[in-house]
Amino acid sequence: KPSSSRWRRVLLKVSGEALAGDQSQNIDPKIAMAIAREVASVTRLGIEVALVVGGGNIFRGSARAGCSGLDRSSADYIGMLATVMNAIFLQATMESIGIPTRVQTAFRMSEVAEPYIRRRAIRHLEKGRVVIFAAGIGNPFFTTDTAAALRCAEKGEPWYNCSCNGFKSFNAEVVLKATNVDGVFDDDPKRNPQARLLDTLTHQDVISKDLSVMDMTAITLCQENNIPVVVFNLNKPGNIEKAIKGERVGTLIGA
Ligand code: UDP
Repeated sequence: KPSSSRWRRVLLKVSGEALAGDQSQNIDPKIAMAIAREVASVTRLGIEVALVVGGGNIFRGSARAGCSGLDRSSADYIGMLATVMNAIFLQATMESIGIPTRVQTAFRMSEVAEPYIRRRAIRHLEKGRVVIFAAGIGNPFFTTDTAAALRCAEKGEPWYNCSCNGFKSFNAEVVLKATNVDGVFDDDPKRNPQARLLDTLTHQDVISKDLSVMDMTAITLCQENNIPVVVFNLNKPGNIEKAIKGERVGTLIGA
C-alpha cells in the first residue's frame, strides 16, 4: 500500500452527466482531461485505479423506454452502448497523456475493447494500467452504480484469499462516486440553502432514509460486502486526487 494513501486499489465511478459538464448531451473534453490528469498523478504514486463509466450523458434506458415502442431492455442495451462510447473517449484521453489504459466491456465487442475478465483486469492493474469497465454489468434493468459495486466486490471466495496459494483478488477497497454535488446533504441543497453536507453515514442510513446516493441494488451490494463509498464533487480541481488518496472529501459512507 503506498504509504501516503489510505487506499491501495480504488474503483472510481464517473457518471455520464459528470462527463458532460455544462453541455447537456455530450462529453466535455476538458472534463475528460481533468479526470485523466488527476488519475495520472495517483497512478504514479502506485495506487491502482479502475474506472466504471456511466452513460447518462448520451442515453438513459429508463427515461427513453416507451418512446416509439422502445421496450425497456432494448433501451437499456442502448444505454450500455453509450457507456462504451464514454469509455473509449476516456481511454483515448488517458493514453494521450501517457497512462496505459484498457477498456473491458461486460458484453463482447472484441474489435473495440477486451471482454471483462476479472483476472486479466487484476493483472492490468498490477502492471500500473488503468482499467475502464464499460457496458455496466451487461444486463438491462441495472445501473453503472451497481456495476461499480459489483466490480469492487469481486474478491473471490474467502479461501482464495489465503496467502499460501498466492491468489490475487480484485479487492478494490472503496467505491469513489464522482458527482456534480459536494456529497450527501440532509436536504436538497438546491431548494434549501440551510441543507448541511453530511461527513459520514452508514449504508443503513442511506437505505432507510432513501437518500439518493445510489440505487438500492448498488448500495445494498456495498453494504453486504462492507465496501465503503465516497461521494464527492468531480468539478472541484484536486478532488479526484484527494478522494483516491483517501483524504477527507465529500461524504464517506460505511467506513
Ligand atoms: N445500463 C444497464 N445495465 C447496466 C448498466 C447500465 O442497462 O448494468 C443502462 C441503463 O439504461 C442506464 C444506462 O445504461 O440508464 C446508462 O447507465 P447509468 O444510467 O448508470 O449512467 P450514469 O447515470 O452513471 O451516467
